[in-house]
Amino acid sequence: MQHFKLPSKALVLGLGKSGRSAVQLLRHKGIEVLAVDENPALEVETLWALGAKTKLGPLPSHFWEDAEVVVLSPGWPPASPACQEVLKQGLPLWGEVELAFRCLPEGAGPLLGITGTNGKSTTTALLGHLLSQTASPVFIGGNLGCPFSQACTQTFAAHAVELSSYQLETLHEACFVGAAWLNLSDDHLARYGTLQAYAQAKLHIFERPPPGAYAVLNADDAQVWKHAASLQQQGRALWGFSLAKDKAEGAAGWAQAAPGGIALHTPQGRHFLPLCNRALRGRHNLCNAMAALCMACAQGLPVSALAQGLSCFEGLAHRLEFIREVEGVEWVNDSKATNMESTLVALEAIAAPMWLIVGGLGKGASYQPLVNASRKKVLGVLTVGEDAPVLAEAFAGEKDLWACGTLEKAVLQARRLAKPGDVVLLSPACASLDQFKNFEERGQLFRQYVEAL
Ligand code: ADP
Repeated sequence: MQHFKLPSKALVLGLGKSGRSAVQLLRHKGIEVLAVDENPALEVETLWALGAKTKLGPLPSHFWEDAEVVVLSPGWPPASPACQEVLKQGLPLWGEVELAFRCLPEGAGPLLGITGTNGKSTTTALLGHLLSQTASPVFIGGNLGCPFSQACTQTFAAHAVELSSYQLETLHEACFVGAAWLNLSDDHLARYGTLQAYAQAKLHIFERPPPGAYAVLNADDAQVWKHAASLQQQGRALWGFSLAKDKAEGAAGWAQAAPGGIALHTPQGRHFLPLCNRALRGRHNLCNAMAALCMACAQGLPVSALAQGLSCFEGLAHRLEFIREVEGVEWVNDSKATNMESTLVALEAIAAPMWLIVGGLGKGASYQPLVNASRKKVLGVLTVGEDAPVLAEAFAGEKDLWACGTLEKAVLQARRLAKPGDVVLLSPACASLDQFKNFEERGQLFRQYVEAL
């Protein structure tokens, strides 16, 4: 790892999970810290215990004091007046990932970054799991789970890092030898204004390619694939993955869907990897698996380790998570489906006839696409939460519907309805905040109710 000069005093702007982790790292390095957040009610005693100074509430005019660097939380838009003021003062603006990169210990293993609109967490977790087949310890985190700063406290053999577009905006020196871009669709437009600006943020993942750098791109996504040639010109070997397309000319490696699995074209030859892991069902997970395989293969993992890792990956909680089978009925937790698009993905992924539990805090869009998609496999709909009446109206005359109100009642009702061979799927198509703290709490309670059956 290159040696970087660190500041003697830093200001941390925004004290969410990654901001707090940045404070911890800075203090660990003996750097003086002023930590600020606009929320006056934040708990900051743990930061005081680390020796950080804090300032909560509206920002005073000279809020950066004499800091040499500002570490910006991903949720804080760089276009905000506070950031603009910081930039006017000529202060460098780093994200927590940039800070962590500069603090990585000597001998830290390769950095592999993953971005995209959807599938980042699953792909990152799977990649980390694949790498763990031959290396230890492997860091798995970033936007998912552990903030990247936590990679600085020990020497990891490899790093699988999930990166959101917000985190990518504030990189300066940080670079990733392996960088994957999974897909791009309309998201975060309130922050970026246009899809192009959002794509531009994603492209930062490929900057400053170190020796041996490669890019893994989704060949089925035109918005992603159109950058293939320029990324090669910038010095990255190209790896592609596709549900249908054959290996592109000039690609160093390729993954392609094949009956029952994945065909992997490596510089050494063509291999077939079976994919029958329940944690990776659905075409979307096939794409995520292909991306992770490309990266792990580019890192030199043998095909036997890839096959072994693929078969024993346990998946992530709340994303089409298998809970248990009760008298021939399979119960699946997809609480992470906080919008309709994710529920559509879940309906596509599950083949068996199913009972669908939906509802929560709606996003205001029409449920018609959900109604259309549920015609083939959905046996009945159980609604919960605030948007239940809107869902009832959308499904009227289409499906039998049970207005259950709460998740617990929906589980009990589904238990009465489902027959052996059916699936009961919680995939709410709505946010959870009307009845729960977050989608994790919703999923955990679902698990609890199902385990009690
Ligand atoms: P992210 O970290 O990008 O939010 P996750 O791996 O947590 O992605 O998956 C979140 C949801 O996104 C899943 O429940 C699924 O509905 C959808 N999804 C996952 N992977 C893909 C993909 N490759 N393409 C489209 N949708 C996907």
